[in-house]
Amino acid sequence: MSFLAERVKNIRPSPTLAMLGRAKELKKKGEPVLDFSIGEPDFDTPQNIKDAAAKAMKEGFTKYTDPRGILELREAIAGKLCKENHVDTEAENIVVSHGAKHALFNVFAALCEKGDEVIIPAPYWVSFSEMAKLCQATPVILHSKGLKFSAEELRQKVSGKTKLLVLNYPNNPSGVIYSRNELKKIAEVAVENNFFVISDEIYEKFIYTGETYTSLASLGDEISRLAITVNGVSKTYAMTGWRIGYLCARKEITDAINATQGNASGNPNSIAQKAALEAITGPQDSVKKMVAEFAKRREIISKGLSGLNGFECEKPMGAFYAFPSVANCFGAKAGSSSKLASFLLEELKIAAVPGSDFGKEGFMRFSFATSTDTIAQGIERLKKHFG
Ligand code: PMP
Ligand code: GLU
Repeated sequence: MSFLAERVKNIRPSPTLAMLGRAKELKKKGEPVLDFSIGEPDFDTPQNIKDAAAKAMKEGFTKYTDPRGILELREAIAGKLCKENHVDTEAENIVVSHGAKHALFNVFAALCEKGDEVIIPAPYWVSFSEMAKLCQATPVILHSKGLKFSAEELRQKVSGKTKLLVLNYPNNPSGVIYSRNELKKIAEVAVENNFFVISDEIYEKFIYTGETYTSLASLGDEISRLAITVNGVSKTYAMTGWRIGYLCARKEITDAINATQGNASGNPNSIAQKAALEAITGPQDSVKKMVAEFAKRREIISKGLSGLNGFECEKPMGAFYAFPSVANCFGAKAGSSSKLASFLLEELKIAAVPGSDFGKEGFMRFSFATSTDTIAQGIERLKKHFG
């Protein structure tokens, strides 16, 4: 193994994708697995979006495009950010990539190098720490008392080496959302210490508490120069397989990312770009329907999980994950949530992702991007053991 580059030696495979793989394997063998592992809307991509892709193919829109994405799409994204998110931006500040994952990786690649520290508040989405490591930066995990961190807790983690903070709200896995006031305080710490902030807004439409969404970059000129907004069409339009994500940042950053992407992958798929354009500019009623369905599932799963012995489950504010504390049934010692996940999968045939994979031991993530029927059966199965 010594021929491998240092930077890939400590990279773990994505645990969410790994758990999905294990669940699928067992299903293939005929095991009655109920899958709560993956955060992927179970709805089909809306027809108007598929039609736009078919039209693009028919019309021969099948060639290389501008590596940072077609101008029409970047203008539409800039327009969406101005109108919906109050982020004052234009097409030159946008890069379209191969999913939000790729957009995020591009940011780490453009900004991070050896010696840099990246602050990642826990619980965090599984890939942030690995992306930082791949780009030779050091992840600094911010463990807070609850599921939310405060500006004060953030301040304690800042050092002269801090290059980047990774914010994600609604949060995967906790569903936590930060209010305008909380974000202002976080922005103050970033501005005072002059570090960049990724604001991963991929779950912005999935909010169940009636709160309005505040984008970090909308909070004034100073923070907008340091903010990199990341979003995409995977979750909002049930388009996970189409692989279109984007970022919005100041021009020095988008120019560097354009050059990187132009060499590393070239343009994102031309047909998927046309589909994403329709998603963003076309009718939005399918989004409302999907969010309303998720809101119903959120009620059922939170109530069901709270009724189990040893589980404590607050209703998530957003995203589509329930993140109960399981410390009272399985303990919060290192390794306990992954033992519980193995037990659930092997004994109860329930696939869920351990909190430890998100940097939060004593918790378990159940994705409710699955049917109400699966949720009801899952709760019944869990009740037999934890009832
Ligand atoms: N950010 C977060 C917080 C996510 O949960 C995901 C999951 N897919 C992504 C980014 C990446 O999304 P995409 O499918 O657009 O790569
Ligand atoms: N983000 C989703 C999840 O957390 C999809 C899988 C992944 O990309 O990690 O389940």
